[in-house]
Amino acid sequence: MTDRPVGRSTAMRAQVGVANASGKVTPMPADPGSRRTPAFDAVTRAELLDASLPELHHRAASVRDAAFGTRMTFSPKVFIPLTMLCRDRCGYCTFAKAPARLESPYLSIEQVLDIARAGRAAGCHEALFTLGEGPEDRYPAAAGWLADHGYTSTVDYLAAACAAVLEETGLLPHANAGALSGADLATLRAVSASQGMMVESTNPELDAHRSAPDKVPARRLATMEAAGRLAIPFTTGLLVGIGESRADRLDTLEAIAASHARHGHIQEVIVQNFLPKPGTSMHRHPPCPTDEFLWTIAAARLMLPTDIHLQAPPNLSDELGPLVGAGIDDWGGVSPVTADHVNPERAWPALGILRAATEAAGHVLAPRLTLYPEFALHPDTWLDPALRFPVMDASDAEGLGRDHPWASGGEFPPPELLPPLVVPDSPTRPAVATRAPTGGAVAEVLEGVLAGQTVGEDEIVTLFGARGPEVRAVAEVADQLRYDIVGDEVTFVANRNINYTNVCTFKCKFCAFSKGPLSLNLRGTPYLLELSDITDRVAEAEAMGATEVCLQGGIHPKFDGDYYLEVIKAVRQASSTIHIHGFTALEVTEGARRSEMALADYLVLLRDAGLRTLPGTAAEVLDDDVRAIICPDKINTEEWLEAHRAAHSVGLNSNVTIMFGSVEQPRSWARHLVRTRELQLETGGFTEFVPLPFVHMATPIYIQRKARRGPTFRETVLMHAVGRIAYRGAIDNIQLSWVKMGAAGARQLLRSGVNDLGGTLIDENISRAAGASHGQMMDADGFRALVAPLGRTLAQRTTLYGRVIHPDGHDSVLAGVR
Ligand code: SF4
Repeated sequence: MTDRPVGRSTAMRAQVGVANASGKVTPMPADPGSRRTPAFDAVTRAELLDASLPELHHRAASVRDAAFGTRMTFSPKVFIPLTMLCRDRCGYCTFAKAPARLESPYLSIEQVLDIARAGRAAGCHEALFTLGEGPEDRYPAAAGWLADHGYTSTVDYLAAACAAVLEETGLLPHANAGALSGADLATLRAVSASQGMMVESTNPELDAHRSAPDKVPARRLATMEAAGRLAIPFTTGLLVGIGESRADRLDTLEAIAASHARHGHIQEVIVQNFLPKPGTSMHRHPPCPTDEFLWTIAAARLMLPTDIHLQAPPNLSDELGPLVGAGIDDWGGVSPVTADHVNPERAWPALGILRAATEAAGHVLAPRLTLYPEFALHPDTWLDPALRFPVMDASDAEGLGRDHPWASGGEFPPPELLPPLVVPDSPTRPAVATRAPTGGAVAEVLEGVLAGQTVGEDEIVTLFGARGPEVRAVAEVADQLRYDIVGDEVTFVANRNINYTNVCTFKCKFCAFSKGPLSLNLRGTPYLLELSDITDRVAEAEAMGATEVCLQGGIHPKFDGDYYLEVIKAVRQASSTIHIHGFTALEVTEGARRSEMALADYLVLLRDAGLRTLPGTAAEVLDDDVRAIICPDKINTEEWLEAHRAAHSVGLNSNVTIMFGSVEQPRSWARHLVRTRELQLETGGFTEFVPLPFVHMATPIYIQRKARRGPTFRETVLMHAVGRIAYRGAIDNIQLSWVKMGAAGARQLLRSGVNDLGGTLIDENISRAAGASHGQMMDADGFRALVAPLGRTLAQRTTLYGRVIHPDGHDSVLAGVR
């Protein structure tokens, strides 16, 4: 028995790109530098043609699960039908209209922008331009309209419309303009984040395409090739049930795989089922049989390399579960605003229905951009420079779409990621489901955690990928660990920040606080406090009930190592007992360097003068690839770790911070957690973990369009929860930064492993400088109001987690604290 179907000419097979001599379709790695490795055994055409449907589905779903886990993506988008005129007459199409049936040959730019703005308001990331092909070649009305408006072609006008949408709304254009020349594709690449064109079928003899010059397979394949040469993230696909055979579909899939092997540019393949429509020449043609459709999906998953995503439109099938079962990992574009103009009789499912169907099938839903993460995270290769920031601005840390407008430090309330709170009558251990409801890798890691295992770098990355019910499961496990380790008390410390100078010789690109000569002069003016000012502020803080002062500042060019000793003396002049928490790893490293002393010796001097603990700031992200971007002249990972190792060795405690959400990915977060955990197991000197979500608004790196807009709220919840899980047995306290979170966000974090609210922070300056708007100070009443709805108790702590008990009637900022 031959391994290939018979009945197709050698010439046709050559045209579409054939499998090797044995008939094996082996996906080929392409695009060095991206994650392009085949993840499944080659499958033969004969196997695909002969296998039973259940067997094929099982194999396809296994391949999909191995490649993409539980994640099912969709693109929240608006559809913009720029023109419904088309020079082709496909037998199934109701999209194309005659000029007499349209008010205008083209949408105006204002009409385009109205649609895009509505999409923006509804949380969309993508503007999908759907349009007929080359209408000016067929209709004088189209050619006349273009000439009257100063455009040379439909593609010329499409480029202008894409540019307007990008500029005015930030939505990422996806141009779907059919069979184009390389020059046209290049024009559109400059204003779109991705492009697409359905191959439909490589069978050149289909009646459906008899009057469609642009549907000649050679033209479609040439367009796909040209897109590959231009490094355009490209979407293509098959239309199933228009008269082609199964063998034709395999030919089409082979052609797509072959082009991808050459260029690595095919991001997704859409498998779309034909449905007959009244008013078309194929209205009597039977719809694509469900079995044929599902067979094609499974065959596509098994034939295509696993770095190509597989999509089936959710509005063209009555049941969604079987599509998941056949191997898709993407639902394609779903619009909360516009109809599917190609299939207007089939409404998009509401997002809630899509989510429910996805979760019922054991998967989790995640919004994506018009281009997939494999492309978004390699912008130098795949994007025109003009598109790089708009893509980054819409991205989360995994290169998927941001799922909510919340930003750390901003006013927008966070989404509710956790189930409604039920406060028990008396303290009880938080309930934890034994498994994440979805199964999959996140659930496996959590099962290991509940069994007492320690998570490594890969497991931490897996947890950071949690979505939907998986996020709830991670938070639940973290909350249970929090209860087991530190109980139900929520602690805070009464402290005052003293930022003695905002002048700094370093040029950290995320820092809106420093006012060095080379920084962007964003807010305020440079200052350096007098030592007497520091003394006065300490006295004032102690009178208000503070037990700690937190000393941090820029690295002033005039400072020598003695300056930090002078600051400690100034504090001690006001108070002999207040806890001095001060000087980052950078400051002590610089102080030692400027004093020409060994770091440990310098730390002993500071300790003997009165320093008690060091803040963990200056850690940012402990991954030197990231530091090279955000703080290239600062101490590196080893130097930060060494400063804290030295501090711990001379009896100074410190904490771990992480500033996350600017340019890095979850792998860097995992490295940060693992490296600091290793040091903690060596020294035991860290008192707490303090995630610091990047506040983007006024930072140089965001203003220069080189960073994301901070973490998403989902990522923020996960950072606290995963921190709790990763540091189990090493660091007992997980602290949230209320300045960056606000009350509603803080409450969800307190249910995700957090037990500490940090300081009252009289005079909080650094987050405010970056644009945070949650105030400069929180008193005990404020903390109590935050904690009370959770049924947890509030306790004032010392810096080192002793308890502060005030006599009744205390009149400080901490009045009433028990
Ligand atoms: S983060 Fe610190 S070291 Fe960096 S510029 Fe700002 S003040 Fe200077």
